[in-house]
Amino acid sequence: MAEKESCLICGSTDHYGLFTARDHLVSGESFPIKKCNACGFVFTAEPPDEKDITKYYTSEDYISHSDKKQSLTDHIYHLARNFMLRKKHNLVLEVSGRKTGTLLDIGSGTGYFADFMSRKGWSVTGVEISESARQYSISRFGITVVPPSEISGIKDGSIDCVTLWHVLEHLYDPDFWMREIKRILKDDGKCILALPNIKSADAEWFGNEWAALDVPRHLWHFSHETLTRFVHKHGFICTEIKSMPLDIYYISAISYKYRGCRLPLLRGIATGVFLTVRTLFCKNRASSLIYIISKR
Ligand SMILES: [Zn+2]
Repeated sequence: MAEKESCLICGSTDHYGLFTARDHLVSGESFPIKKCNACGFVFTAEPPDEKDITKYYTSEDYISHSDKKQSLTDHIYHLARNFMLRKKHNLVLEVSGRKTGTLLDIGSGTGYFADFMSRKGWSVTGVEISESARQYSISRFGITVVPPSEISGIKDGSIDCVTLWHVLEHLYDPDFWMREIKRILKDDGKCILALPNIKSADAEWFGNEWAALDVPRHLWHFSHETLTRFVHKHGFICTEIKSMPLDIYYISAISYKYRGCRLPLLRGIATGVFLTVRTLFCKNRASSLIYIISKR
């Protein structure tokens, strides 16, 4: 969103600076984080132009992690990934009420989830902007993955479930994508959105050092209120919100690492336990939230 542009959610041009956040992962550059005065939506101001954003992604990291099983970290990574694949599969079955069907995974990355769902009998298409990740998914798994420009080729009302696992916050034109999701979903289809939560206990704890700000790759910082309002604008209703209870440990450990603290993993786990206990009955304070949305 450019300085004078209107709020993605409510259209207001009245916003103020919350703080400045640093890109610890790639560039070391800082970006202002602003908040809409009218609706409370938080966004990264002055992000790079879309044509320049690829240099802020370290794509080789994703692929190099994928298959080697050498160190303890690699093994933990594999266990965590397989656990998450099973969780995501179960969630799709639960929310769609179907054992198989058509699924579109937007931001499919290296294709592990799309492949897992294919092997469970789903007819899956991935959408991925990175050409190397697309090629990897196609050659490794033989699945169908298209670039974002080919979304228009997906037939109206043909998809049972659309998934965006930590993707919406990266998209330069979320309005376009929500219109496309509405178009391609069946009337009783479901969309699953996983997002970091700017109103989480850990976001409050770490402030501008919260790792899930992840500027400038994250352009939008949703809370359950602003996400609910955003999907409503596009003719959807949020039927359920689920918390992702493990993200807080990972995000806290990275936040401490960025801060330059010693023993970031241990401190991250300790802070994760402390904040989880403190917000035990406040589901909407989890580090990341999963939203299930349906057409209104
Ligand atoms: Zn607003």
